[in-house]
Amino acid sequence: MTTIATTNPATGEVEKTFDALSDEEVDRRVGRAAAAFASYRRTGFAERAGWMNAAADILDAEADQIGALLTTEMGKTLTAAKAEVRKCAKACRYYAEHAEGFMADRPADAGAVGASAAYVRYEPLGPVLAVMPWNFPLWQVIRFAAPGLMAGNVGLLKHSSNVPQTALFLEDLFLRAGFPEGAFQTLLIGSSKVEDVLRDPRVKAATLTGSEPAGRSVAAIAGDEIKPTVLELGGSDPFVVMPSADVAKAAETAAASRCLNNGQSCISAKRFIVDERVADEFERRFVEAMRAQKVGDPMDEATDIGPLATEQGREDVEELVADAVEKGATVLCGGERPDGPGWYYPPTVLSGVTDEMRMYHEEVFGPVASLFRVRGISEAIELANGTGFGLGSNAWTRDPEERERFVRELDAGAVFINGMTTSFPEIPFGGVKRSGYGRELSDYGIHEFCNVKTVWAG
Ligand code: NDP
Repeated sequence: MTTIATTNPATGEVEKTFDALSDEEVDRRVGRAAAAFASYRRTGFAERAGWMNAAADILDAEADQIGALLTTEMGKTLTAAKAEVRKCAKACRYYAEHAEGFMADRPADAGAVGASAAYVRYEPLGPVLAVMPWNFPLWQVIRFAAPGLMAGNVGLLKHSSNVPQTALFLEDLFLRAGFPEGAFQTLLIGSSKVEDVLRDPRVKAATLTGSEPAGRSVAAIAGDEIKPTVLELGGSDPFVVMPSADVAKAAETAAASRCLNNGQSCISAKRFIVDERVADEFERRFVEAMRAQKVGDPMDEATDIGPLATEQGREDVEELVADAVEKGATVLCGGERPDGPGWYYPPTVLSGVTDEMRMYHEEVFGPVASLFRVRGISEAIELANGTGFGLGSNAWTRDPEERERFVRELDAGAVFINGMTTSFPEIPFGGVKRSGYGRELSDYGIHEFCNVKTVWAG
């Protein structure tokens, strides 16, 4: 039986618990979603945009309180939490402005197909189930909900069991913004209940952000039901530094990327692959920048890194570090949990990580970096591509030929050159290989849950 509760990661104390919805209540809510879809899909873009902009206004106006809620539930710093809230407001506004254009009929070559008119019409699918994680508890949901609702779909949110208040806030947000009842609902249920919802014929599609096992399970059930899915799973992004790079800037960005969200981001750089000609300098600067991160109370503005979100999460990180050290890796900084309450873990850098170690293959969801030295670009790309993941990637170089090789050869859903991998509403987001499939954000994201209807008229 899943516990649905707010447990403050900074103290380890349970602050609020919630009962899971009964099966009857879940059924009622799915029914409400299906009924809402029948009328919601007929609302116009201007009306939806008005509601979406109102949601953005609420987010901006209440950023401080919402931010504090995020921090209490999953431990990110208050500064980061408030920035997340504002980023969500921006995404709502982006889709309010652009959805109509993205959803406009797309003409095809009528003559070539013997028609007087031929075009594509994008239509919403219906209720979409969103299984979402706690790490960006607002953003992960908004980046599905903003395009989804603007397209005319309705949403059913099954959020992580450790962020129930954020989950309930999201339902409330869309209601207060003016969206019709049933357009966006939260289902407080454990993961064992996801299958029933997904198999319900009234639910037409699913999107999941989270771990590989969760993705595999949801995709298998959806596959059995022939329902489309978008999966955004883990990542172990490479961060390659070549001799022509601005090494100081690369090292500073490397630490920021690895420590983003207390080290719990799918697109954090996790494997730092440095050409041996600049490896000493990069290592010195990177370790210095990691050591300089201030770990502490996430509510304190001076804090860079708060606690990890769950006790289990910290144990998982510790196990991966212990496994690597036991098999010969060297700890350059960090590596020991501090005494005291809360699930804190310090910024940690390891060198000498080899493919016998779990860390080489698995995602480390905490502020732990692996540092590798390579001889030249070919070795760098081979190592970068040598995992099952393919979400984001970073390359630092000022050489145009090298840059083109990275763009062409890095096996990932995104390549960021001389900058940190980040998500923006304006550009697509998603992975290849075991990092998942499908794309969120931009025009790609809104079309994922649409029927691309071909219209041919003689
Ligand atoms: P999970 O994948 O377990 O949780 C994400 C969401 O999926 C939650 O809503 C969870 O619900 C649900 N879920 C879990 N298992 C299933 C299932 N079998 N069927 C349907 N839904 C399911 O992530 P964790 O929080 O346990 O974190 C574990 C690891 O996953 C992390 O260490 C990290 O490596 C990775 N992860 C990656 C994220 C990313 O952004 N790519 C985000 C979060 C985690 P419930 O909470 O009720 O179990």
